[in-house]
Amino acid sequence: MPGKVTLVGAGPGDPGLLTRKGLKALERAEVVVYDRLVSPAILALMPEGAEKINVGKQAARHPVPQDQINQILLDKALEGKNVVRLKGGDPFLFGRGGEELELLAEHGIPFEEVPGITSAIAAPAYGGIPVTHRDCCSSLHIITGHQRAGKALDIDFEALVRTKGTLVFLMGVSALPQICQGLLTAGMGPNMPAAVVERGTTPAQRRISATLETLAERAEQAGVESPAVIVVGKVCALAEDFDWFDHLPLKGKTVVVTRPKERSGTLSARLRDLGAEVWEYPCIATLPLDPCPALDDAMERLGDYEWLALTSPAGVDALWRWLEASGKDARALGNVKLAAIGPGTGRELKKYGLKADYVPEVYDAAHLGAGLPAGGNVLILRAEEGSPALTEELARRNIGYDDIATYRTVYENPRSQELREALEGTDGLLVTFTSASTVKGFVSSVGADADFSNMVGMCIGAQTAAEAQKHGIPVKTARAATMDALVELITEGV
Ligand code: SAH
Repeated sequence: MPGKVTLVGAGPGDPGLLTRKGLKALERAEVVVYDRLVSPAILALMPEGAEKINVGKQAARHPVPQDQINQILLDKALEGKNVVRLKGGDPFLFGRGGEELELLAEHGIPFEEVPGITSAIAAPAYGGIPVTHRDCCSSLHIITGHQRAGKALDIDFEALVRTKGTLVFLMGVSALPQICQGLLTAGMGPNMPAAVVERGTTPAQRRISATLETLAERAEQAGVESPAVIVVGKVCALAEDFDWFDHLPLKGKTVVVTRPKERSGTLSARLRDLGAEVWEYPCIATLPLDPCPALDDAMERLGDYEWLALTSPAGVDALWRWLEASGKDARALGNVKLAAIGPGTGRELKKYGLKADYVPEVYDAAHLGAGLPAGGNVLILRAEEGSPALTEELARRNIGYDDIATYRTVYENPRSQELREALEGTDGLLVTFTSASTVKGFVSSVGADADFSNMVGMCIGAQTAAEAQKHGIPVKTARAATMDALVELITEGV
């Protein structure tokens, strides 16, 4: 049985513009064949086990020829694989999607196409240019500005000018002077508003607005490079009023997210929505301790404890894994009361149908220890080398406790060289720290001898900030230990 090939439009760059159907197809893929224009944030959504084939760039930096791509799709489908062919924008708009389907159709391979949001509309939109407006035009034309080597542009400029519609040129950066000249020669007014939107919908987006007469020169001065769309028409004049994307609070800022991979998603997405360029460098990973005799023993004697205290979502997950591995469920927790260090840990409990009976007002270890209602012993399940502030507070209050490590935090970053270069090459880099261990992971990843004076550590709480300061990292601290407050801190700081 042959597999299936799904041609998926990945949209123009912003990962939020991948369609739900496209995402579903991607999540189920066994093989993903992708090219240059697909953004890293979307590539990060590819399933870990899937075979990933980059046809946009080979070792020698040349793209794989089209007939070879067609062949790869056919071969993988014949192997019975579920193949996703991921393409920038919409696959059928100057994307050669049709060509890729021909060979499949010839061989009777089942296929599907999931349309994508095209850069022809989305890049202008993020630049504040609606491609049509009732007062400006009654048609939209999308044209390729691709010039075959040694040949003149094959565009009927006179016909285009007659339409009086909005013109959008793709693949037109190198032919921009000829395109503008062609339109001028065909009789379009030199003052017609025109714009170029480079790397549209990504944090690096730039819009250059000018007139038909001045656009080529302005774009050249600005050093505009592909990918960019060229827009010509009265609608371009609206950009000054409508450019919402350029005004996002974190536009132009780069933020590094150091949380473990499985927990970085929400923070990253929120920062991206605010316009930031987000680099995910998970500097720590959590490894459950298995076997964990101390946990077996404590769970045996759970009736001896009044409280079960959890100080991170990873601790909740480790507890749940233990329950499952022991063939038990939430009922095994009986009457023990649950304390969570903060709302994130509380939410993780909720995932398993459990409610935290106590969450301190300030979300850190010291406040958890100081505020936990007295009465009975406390079972603490947390990482090795958890903050001593919790147990010190309990001891001060004469509350008995057992402090059991159920997981280990490991510091690792396979891309540490890249991270160090980013740190040294970027002024004012913002690095988020959501726990003291992310600081330790970050420092061990880039090397303690790195120069931290150019970055700012955006810390979730006092203990995290103290750890960062130990390493000479300039810090700012959120007003509360929540993702909301951390995002607020980052937004305020710029
Ligand atoms: N199928 C794609 C277009 C492929 S042709 C789509 O529907 O968007 C490649 C051209 O698309 C580039 O030369 C550029 O003109 C345009 N393009 C693609 N991504 C872009 C982006 N993020 N910003 C601006 N233009 C982009």
